[in-house]
Amino acid sequence: MSGGDMAKPLLGHQSIEGDPSITPAAGRTIGVLGSGDFARSLAIRLVCSGFKVVVGSRNPKRKAGLFPSAAEVTFQADAVKKTDVIFVAVFREHYSTLCDLADVLTGKILVDVSNNTEINHHKESNAEYLASLFPACTVVKGFNVVSAWTLQSGARDGNKQVLICSNNQEAKRTVAEIAQVMGFTPVDMGCMSSACEIENIPLRLLPAWKIPIFLALGLFLCFFTYNLIRQVIHPYIREQKNKLYKIPIEVVNTTLPCVAYVMLSLVYLPGVLAACLQLYYGTKYRRFPDWLDQWLQHRKQIGLLSFFCAALHAVYSLCLPMRRSHRYQLIETAVKQALEKKMNIWVEEEVWRMEIYISVGIIALGLLSLLAITSLPSIANSLNWREFSFIQSTLGFIALVISTLHTLTYGWSRAFDENQYKFYLPPTYTLTLLVPCTVILAKVIFSLPCIQQRLLRIRRGWEKGRYVKFVLPSATGEYSSGETSSNV
Ligand code: NAP
Repeated sequence: MSGGDMAKPLLGHQSIEGDPSITPAAGRTIGVLGSGDFARSLAIRLVCSGFKVVVGSRNPKRKAGLFPSAAEVTFQADAVKKTDVIFVAVFREHYSTLCDLADVLTGKILVDVSNNTEINHHKESNAEYLASLFPACTVVKGFNVVSAWTLQSGARDGNKQVLICSNNQEAKRTVAEIAQVMGFTPVDMGCMSSACEIENIPLRLLPAWKIPIFLALGLFLCFFTYNLIRQVIHPYIREQKNKLYKIPIEVVNTTLPCVAYVMLSLVYLPGVLAACLQLYYGTKYRRFPDWLDQWLQHRKQIGLLSFFCAALHAVYSLCLPMRRSHRYQLIETAVKQALEKKMNIWVEEEVWRMEIYISVGIIALGLLSLLAITSLPSIANSLNWREFSFIQSTLGFIALVISTLHTLTYGWSRAFDENQYKFYLPPTYTLTLLVPCTVILAKVIFSLPCIQQRLLRIRRGWEKGRYVKFVLPSATGEYSSGETSSNV
């Protein structure tokens, strides 16, 4: 699983945090236009951070009670006159109603906090639109990725990053300074042309999760259908037995571990493919195909979904004995055995199989939990690179091997029992073994010294064919050796 991505800035831009040239701004007066949810939360946070706040409303008398007593609530024009930095906490469609304030706003910094309802809703960003309405002001885009809730609950309980952009460096620095005093991490996103990108961020729905979720759903659907055919449709067609009751728990519970197991192997498969390509090309400087790049970037999400399915499988399995159908089957078996006068029903092999199966299952789930926990940004940040790679790579691979043991002890000798082949379909567990076993086999091959050494050299920058060792006879008949570039 790739980790630490959540700890990085949302977008790869420079953080302004810790800039020594930034001086504390607490004590200065900040203006807020608007008296809605965002304005109220912002005012509370600003007051708590030591700023003087003046709120500009169209109806200050009615709205004053909603704000902390330390904040002054007055008419818009009056508020604007008292400060140089004004947060515009008003929707884009109402910007034009502020045009009457153009004169008093001249030379001031306007912070555009607005969001849209759709990605790329307007041709120009809201901030650029505000700047076009007030050419005598300096507009800074910022704070839109922070919700009113985060502002009220304090930066520690929510997203800490505040993305900022503006064409004016000085104005951007001033707003960054205010964000920092409020406990946020200002991130410099460059000039105003980035405003559109910043405005789109709060509207994106789990962009990193889309592919892994579709993958998990696709696998779930395939395995569910396969298990349904084997466990419900086959007995109905062949023996006219109604086994529909199996669908909500049994079929789902045989599907979930298949998805979890295959998804776990899909976390490690792209690494194997990448290593194969590097060995084939003899260099690490050749770009991977886009699909492989995408796959490598989604390993963390794929791993977390694998953990999610495994955890659900554990819960379902614990609940199996609670079902009425299970109790009926137990009683039925007991009655049958009593009628057949069977006193000893202990099957040593079955007992051992079950003990090992459950034990390795618990260990696999424990390891998956560890992988999931260490992929959390707060935990990942507390680990150094070696610790993180040991957990995610080595322990992750061990989790895959233990899950394979779990699957094998579950299947035991079923693959060799012809009664287990329903409509000639092999038991589901045999299908799930395909990808994980390929990954394990590839990892074993890569650990052979000759291949491991070559891979290590490639990953440290060695390139096939770049340097050729040569041995030439000298004039005296002695041999001299050296390296030359084959490309020359
Ligand atoms: P809201 O509760 O509806 O408040 C909007 C405020 O705009 C009103 O209270 C009103 O204050 C003022 N306003 C000025 N001119 C107006 C006009 N012509 N018609 C209507 N209202 C007018 O909205 P909000 O949730 O605070 O959002 C304000 C801005 O913050 C929006 O641009 C939004 O995208 C952005 N934002 C909000 C959040 C959030 O979590 N809520 C998060 C990020 C960004 P007066 O009546 O006192 O003038």
